[in-house]
Amino acid sequence: MNIFKRTRIRYILHRHAIEHGLWTEITEKLAILQGMTAVEKAHLRELTTLFLHEKKFFGAQELQLTDAMCLIIAAQACLPALGHGLDCLSGWTGIIVYPSAFRINRDERYVAGVVHHQEQVLIGEAWSRGPLILSWEDVEQDLQGKQSGRNVVIHEIAHKLDMLNGPADGFPPLHQSMAVTEWSISLGAAYESLVQRVEHRHRVCINPYAATSPAEFFAVISEYFFSEPEILHTHFADVYQQLQLYYRQNPLRRAQSSYLN
Ligand SMILES: [Zn+2]
Repeated sequence: MNIFKRTRIRYILHRHAIEHGLWTEITEKLAILQGMTAVEKAHLRELTTLFLHEKKFFGAQELQLTDAMCLIIAAQACLPALGHGLDCLSGWTGIIVYPSAFRINRDERYVAGVVHHQEQVLIGEAWSRGPLILSWEDVEQDLQGKQSGRNVVIHEIAHKLDMLNGPADGFPPLHQSMAVTEWSISLGAAYESLVQRVEHRHRVCINPYAATSPAEFFAVISEYFFSEPEILHTHFADVYQQLQLYYRQNPLRRAQSSYLN
């Protein structure tokens, strides 16, 4: 990092520091952050401060966003970036927050010139260099842990990371120390077995939405990795290990240490 960038970061961290009481209140409320070491927490606070400074939040449909709401989103968005640095979340600025699930209309154009009009109801959406779009109702439900293994912010950020090297395909840019074959063998086998179980209507241990595509698989296992690491580790130990290398974090240890507290 060059000296100008370092100085600018130091200035932002000092000038735009998150108010201490608010940071403590929010980080205690977020189950996903429990069990972090003091070093991890300090690093997350820095990333979150820079994220809040760089991104622009917009409330859609007259939703009034408070500092606390922005912080809840920002801290969760920065969690997957802890082992990568904030550059992995650069190249876009907007975060649009709807009060609840939102409707989108899209035209899909097929080869023969046929246009198929689609209407979808979404709780989150991420574009490569475009905004991050979220439903506040669902962000809040994740806070309360209403649905095991669900976290819409982590899900959409995982898509953002996946799109750093092209269209989302479950293959984000890996660290140099990681083996590409191990990633593809571990995630590929787990994905194929999940697809088989879903197709044969067998019970599945994670959200079956993961069987939609390799991109959704990566986003869903990232949600489990951070919010329900035991489930992911129990059923897909190899996948957990790959995510541990990729995210450079071990949420399973955090979960175990927060039980002891
Ligand atoms: Zn998705």
